Amino acid sequence: MSALLMLGGTAEARELAAVLHDRGVPVVSSLAGRVATPRLPPGEVRIGGFGGPEGLERWLAEHDVFAVVDATHPFAARMSASAVAACGRAGVPLLRLERPGWRERAGDRWHWVDDVAAAAEAVGGLGRRALLALGRQEVAAFAGVESTWFLIRSVGRPDPPLPPRHQLLLDRAPFTVTGELGVLDEHRIDVVITRDSGGDQTVAKLDAARVRGLPVVVVRRPPSPGTTAVTTVAEAAAWASARADRAAAAEESSPDGSCSLDRAGG
Ligand code: NAP
Repeated sequence: MSALLMLGGTAEARELAAVLHDRGVPVVSSLAGRVATPRLPPGEVRIGGFGGPEGLERWLAEHDVFAVVDATHPFAARMSASAVAACGRAGVPLLRLERPGWRERAGDRWHWVDDVAAAAEAVGGLGRRALLALGRQEVAAFAGVESTWFLIRSVGRPDPPLPPRHQLLLDRAPFTVTGELGVLDEHRIDVVITRDSGGDQTVAKLDAARVRGLPVVVVRRPPSPGTTAVTTVAEAAAWASARADRAAAAEESSPDGSCSLDRAGG
């Protein structure tokens, strides 16, 4: 039977895989392989890059995939662009599941920047002791910042080079406001640096910064990949279930049992 390919690595991807698994929809979840001990969704899992859009297109041709859901992180722009190109060429329906970005609230002191390089430029003017919580692949952008001490928090050890004055805090979401207030106070943090990842798993640092009146440097998201998109797991589950039903009907009506999907639409 054909399956749905889930480009994952996020809490939403795991949640959606679980919902579809419960509904009997076959799902193959794909992870980048950046985390040594990833949280795994139910169902089949494959790990590692495809080899660019061409590699993903080949993978789609070699596997019986009735649809793709791109539920990768909002900052995983290369994977998303690759999915748009490969699915377009292979004629496989593609849906983007992307959680909404965070919204500023009364009392917030956010400074929006376009990328991590701009965040590295901004931080010196805002504080001397920074909580740097934006993913281990992005830390190197701060290697040249000497004015600020960094508490670098990430799931795995950050990729070098690292800023000259820092301490590592290896930890993984979800975080609580109480816990985040403790981190800010213990390390005398006076500025927080984050990406606009959205979602509730890592939002507590923003709540804690508001409580303490601290400035926050927020890195804007890259542009959306430009495909049909939804923001909730429920919407994505409805889309995927409808396509699974169509795929099952097409397989039943096909004389040799093979899939003869109308791949249009997406
Ligand atoms: P990226 O820059 O979009 O992806 C780089 C390459 O990694 C892709 O071209 C692809 O390789 C491979 N890849 C990414 N996601 C994949 C998936 N789900 N399945 C298979 N291959 C995948 O994304 P990134 O390097 O993973 O991360 C960019 C930013 O997003 C980082 O700052 C990271 O912290 C954040 N982030 C990403 C994920 C994630 O699951 N990707 C999760 C949490 C946070 P090929 O071109 O070879 O196919």
